[in-house]
Amino acid sequence: MRIAVIGTGYVGLVSGICYAELGHHVYCVDKDEAKINMLRGGGIPIYEPGLQPLSVKNMADGRLRFTTELAEAVTEADVVVIAVGTPSLPSGEADMTYIEAAAREVGAAMNGYKVICVKSTVPVGTNERVGRIIGELYDGPFDSASLPEFLREGTAVRDTLHPDRIVIGTGSSRAAHILSDLHRPLTSQIVMTDIRSAEMIKYASNAFLATKISFINEIANICEKVGADVIEVAKGMGLDNRIGSSFLRAGIGYGGSCFPKDTNALIQIAGNVEYDFKLLKSVVEVNKGQRFGVIDKLRKALGDADGRTIGVWGLAFKPETDDVREAPALEIVEQLIDSGAEVSVYDPVAMANFRRMFDHPRILWCGSAMEAAQGSDALCLLTEWKEFADIDLGAVKSAMGSPILIDGRNVYDDKRVRAAGLHYYPVGRPSHEAFIPELILE
Ligand code: NAD
Repeated sequence: MRIAVIGTGYVGLVSGICYAELGHHVYCVDKDEAKINMLRGGGIPIYEPGLQPLSVKNMADGRLRFTTELAEAVTEADVVVIAVGTPSLPSGEADMTYIEAAAREVGAAMNGYKVICVKSTVPVGTNERVGRIIGELYDGPFDSASLPEFLREGTAVRDTLHPDRIVIGTGSSRAAHILSDLHRPLTSQIVMTDIRSAEMIKYASNAFLATKISFINEIANICEKVGADVIEVAKGMGLDNRIGSSFLRAGIGYGGSCFPKDTNALIQIAGNVEYDFKLLKSVVEVNKGQRFGVIDKLRKALGDADGRTIGVWGLAFKPETDDVREAPALEIVEQLIDSGAEVSVYDPVAMANFRRMFDHPRILWCGSAMEAAQGSDALCLLTEWKEFADIDLGAVKSAMGSPILIDGRNVYDDKRVRAAGLHYYPVGRPSHEAFIPELILE
């Protein structure tokens, strides 16, 4: 098939390259000329493991092209995939500006039957709106389909080539056939449904995963108070098939470009039809507070942070990505700065993106994990990169000014940290530093 992918961000770029890998002819479009030039030159504007070689290979094989000319790509295509951003408005609602602009451009370029899919995460009713916009500009036949995306940054190539399921929402049997042919090589689990349900599946899935995270984080907070170990609790819970073990890792809460935005959007979608989504509101509230557990622990361990040097390991919202959108590190570093600390930060790939979002004269941008630890009065681990897990903790202790390790992601084994001589503050786990209260049961 000939596919045009509009928007070469984390989703569009991975999808486009993977469609080419399946043997289709793909034209990836972005209005960002610098991105397109970099892609044409064999580079990749984001950090995503495995993506660059796949791009170069498919370009060399003549199946993958990049352009800023949307009309050219759409004119050639059988299937158009819209994967532009849908960021949050201040109200929490998804901003439809980019979707609507792309729809207008697609409509103006239509020259025959095509299936127009929206892969971006969009409120219920958006695909119908996109169809109306195109219909106003083009009076020939076309079909609309919702094609929500479930990939995770950091494992995006694997997720796209081996998805748990593909969801296709369309009211047209012609579009349904074309899109199942396109995706059948990837999985036999194709959920064929109506457009509105497909749009809702995406929001409901992300809201559910966010709920699991906030749930285990609250369990962790209680564990800290009653002297239980959230890792043991999550293991015991997760072995129950009805619960499952994924997304039961306690920490400093979720971030990134999807969960915060999509939970807020779903609360708004519900509010627009006068439904108060109380559960999801609490999930969001719990998540907002969870990151400051790091600051509380720091305060308990160190007292006032004014004039102290705090090392920070990890800025990306999760490992294996350079994405810092809504990363807990943004607010934590800002709070540390506000409390008068000097902050030595290090992340293997997300430093430049972080610095674009937040910079300050009291931030020291370090070239290694050890440099960030050097002379610091405490160290906060915020992203669970493997290089932090594998580090020589004895050497870290020797480098630090005072040996306090706040582990926001429960990366270490308590005994290993203790053997290195560090004072350890994990999340939801008893440690030799924690005050284990005597429980008085009535
Ligand atoms: P992104 O911001 O990384 O990329 C969007 C791209 O679209 C940008 O490069 C921008 O220049 C381009 N663009 C905008 N308007 C355009 C136009 N008219 N023509 C051509 N290019 C245009 O966004 P993303 O992270 O890839 O997310 C895209 C959508 O996918 C969002 O709705 C998001 O919620 C959803 N999603 C994201 C993820 C993820 O992990 N990032 C996962 C699943 C779903």
